[in-house]
Amino acid sequence: MSHTQTPVIVLGLGAMGRALAAAFVKAGVPTTVWNRSAGKDIDLVAAGAVRAASVAEAIGGDGLVISVLLDHASVHEQLDPVAGRLAGRRWLNLTSTAPEESRELAVWAREHDIEFLDGGIMAVPPMIGEDGSAIFYSGSRSLFDTHRGVLELLGSAEYFGADAGAAALNDFALLSSMYQMFVGFFHGAAMAGTGGMSATAFAQRAVPFLSAMVQGLPAYGQVIDSGEYAAQIQHLAFQQAALDAIVRASRDAGIATDTLEPIAALVGRQVEAGHGGLAFARFIEELRRAPVVATEPEVRH
Ligand code: NDP
Repeated sequence: MSHTQTPVIVLGLGAMGRALAAAFVKAGVPTTVWNRSAGKDIDLVAAGAVRAASVAEAIGGDGLVISVLLDHASVHEQLDPVAGRLAGRRWLNLTSTAPEESRELAVWAREHDIEFLDGGIMAVPPMIGEDGSAIFYSGSRSLFDTHRGVLELLGSAEYFGADAGAAALNDFALLSSMYQMFVGFFHGAAMAGTGGMSATAFAQRAVPFLSAMVQGLPAYGQVIDSGEYAAQIQHLAFQQAALDAIVRASRDAGIATDTLEPIAALVGRQVEAGHGGLAFARFIEELRRAPVVATEPEVRH
C-alpha cells in the first residue's frame, strides 16, 4: 500500500499535532483531524484535512490512529471511552510518555485487541517533515513496517524494538542531555553577564566552544563501554579542582551554584572513593548507583 492510500487520524492539534497533520496533508495522505477545543484545525481543513467533531467520529473511518495529546493522562482520558471501537485497529502514540507509561499503554492496547506502536519525537514542530527531524519508535514491528512510508513523511524513522518503552527511554535520555546542556549555558551566561557580556555575545562564544567539546562524546562513549577508565589527562582529581574553582568563581560573581554543586559533589565522591586518577567518564558510575528516590516527583501541567 502506498503511503498516500493509508489514511491517518490525528488526535490532538497542539503545535506538534498540527505540524504532523500538515505534513500528511501536504503529502496527499487522507487525514482526519480532531482537537478538544475548536479552532485549531482551520488551516488544516482549508488544506484538505477532514474535521471530526469527536474522538468517536474521528476513529469511525479507516486509518492509522495517531494520538498527539499532552500527556499519558490525556491519552487515557480520550481513548478509554472508545477502547471498544479501537479493537482490531492500529494506534501510534506520539504523545510524550515516560517509558513505564508507554508500556502501560501497550498493555492497555493489548487488552483491547489494538495493535500499538509508541513514538518519541526528536524534533520541534517546524522541523517536522524537514531534514533533521527524527522519530524513535518501539512496540509493534508489523505496524512500523507497514506504515513506514507514512512515518517517514514526518522525519527519519528508527525502530528500537518490541519493548514499547524503548523509544521513550531513548527519547528522554537525549532530552536529559539537552536540558543539562541548556542549563549549563544559562549558568555560563549568568556568570559572563556579571562581567558585562550580553547573553547574545556569550552564545556566540559558547556555540563554537561547545561544538568542539561535543566532538569528544564518541571517545567518552568508548571509554564507558570498555569500562577501562585509565586516564592519560584530565582525570577526576583534575576535574574536581576545576569544578571547585568554577563553584568559587560563581559564588564570587553572585551566581547561584545550585546546578553546579551537585556535579562537583558527584566528582568529589569518586575522588574520595579512590578514583581520582581515573578518567572523567567514570562519573557515570556515580549515576548508575544513584540512591532510590523515596517520593514521586511533583508533576506540573
Ligand atoms: P501543545 O501544548 O501545543 O498542545 C497540547 C495538545 O494536547 C492540545 O491539542 C490540547 O488540546 C491537547 N490536550 C491537552 N490535554 C488534553 C486532554 N485532557 N484531552 C484532550 N486533549 C488534550 O503541545 P504540543 O502539540 O507541542 O505537544 C503534544 C505532544 O507532543 C506532547 O506530548 C509533547 O511532549 C510532544 N512533543 C512536542 C514537541 C514540541 O516541541 N512541541 C517535541 C516533541 C514531542 P486543547 O487545544 O484543547 O488544549
